[in-house]
Amino acid sequence: MTLPLTKKAVSSPPSPVRGGTEAGGVDAFTNSERLSTPTPPPPTPPLKGEGGGPASGTPIKSIDALVAAGLVEPDPTLRAVAEKYAIGITPAVLDLIDSNDPADPMARQFVPTLAELITTPEERADPIGDLAHSPIEGIVHRYPDRVLLKAVHVCPVYCRFCFRREMVGPQGLGTLTSAELDAAIAYIAEREEIWEVILTGGDPLVLSPRRLRDLMERLAEIDHVKIVRFHTRVPVVEPERIDDAMVAALTASGKTTYLAVHANHPREFSPAARAAFRRLSEGGIVLISQSVLLKGVNDDVDTLAALMRGFVENRIKPYYLHHPDLAPGTGHFRVSVESGQALVAALRGRISGLCQPTYVLDIPGGHGKADIGAASIVGRDGCFTVRDWQGGEHAYPPGDA
Ligand SMILES: *Cc1c(COP(=O)(O)O)cnc(C)c1O
Ligand code: SF4
Repeated sequence: MTLPLTKKAVSSPPSPVRGGTEAGGVDAFTNSERLSTPTPPPPTPPLKGEGGGPASGTPIKSIDALVAAGLVEPDPTLRAVAEKYAIGITPAVLDLIDSNDPADPMARQFVPTLAELITTPEERADPIGDLAHSPIEGIVHRYPDRVLLKAVHVCPVYCRFCFRREMVGPQGLGTLTSAELDAAIAYIAEREEIWEVILTGGDPLVLSPRRLRDLMERLAEIDHVKIVRFHTRVPVVEPERIDDAMVAALTASGKTTYLAVHANHPREFSPAARAAFRRLSEGGIVLISQSVLLKGVNDDVDTLAALMRGFVENRIKPYYLHHPDLAPGTGHFRVSVESGQALVAALRGRISGLCQPTYVLDIPGGHGKADIGAASIVGRDGCFTVRDWQGGEHAYPPGDA
């Protein structure tokens, strides 16, 4: 069976009253699709985000809506930012923003600023070189044993630092047509070396459970694919989407399912997000983390330690801490590699080994990821010097005398 994914549905202008990707988004294609999509549970209003109940309100998608919510001052120049990069703030994220704090780490991640109009010469539209490794629409095949499958290029939120900001959003690459999706699945089926399929985008969890299930059932038929991995921000920014139907859809391939939760600040672990993590892990999905090191959001040891501990406390194994990519208009988020290395080294002594992420850089131009944590062992005169977590240095023999 083919998925009715069409470009048209995504490029149509968003309706002002629509509940984001919940009722519409990439979901509302045909009547039969709509009928087969489970109705969302009734809202449980009293406590904000309590126990996984949906946060109320409509998503913010325009400058006018930002002004109305009191998140920005009316400023005509800000419209130029909105013309370049999509805006998206879900009710759950709005609940987390402290608009009285000018340095609020949540606002910084999601509220557009004029700084985005500044681009530097080293920034690129395709900072990690996806296009160089895209053999066909929707597939990025950089490493032999795994591919990215990008079925959708929209997200429930639009992070201001996004490394794919030129490709995602209503004005971005759209959603795969069903013919393109067929071709992408055929590409995977024809290549026995593909052991893992990584669903990213955009955010794959904006798809309805019904459509994800269809996709998973098609992957189930490919024997050489053993692992299906999702990369998503939905459990944090739209936790009410993680219901039983969604968990069932995510595991419908029968393969081992991993899900990388994207979060950058400990405040993102709201009660509703924690309930979503619990449903995912209780559904048999292995949870790992991904975060971006961001100036003014998490570039201090206390915040990073709380973030990593928060993941572990929620059964999410820290996986990657990304050095920020050279995406256009994101210079205000960039931290130097040296300070990133110092932060990661400081984490080592400070928090449990369970909480240690790998600090990685996606090498510009499509050369893949590299571990850029400072080496704690250096060779010198036929011997090694190992640095401990307090900075002490110790000799260590080469060992193969
Ligand atoms: C990041 C990435 C992956 C996944 O890399 P892991 O190190 O396995 O997490 C796979 N393919 C592409 C193209 C990527 O950019
Ligand atoms: S959720 Fe991911 S892909 Fe979407 S805007 Fe944020 S960083 Fe970009």
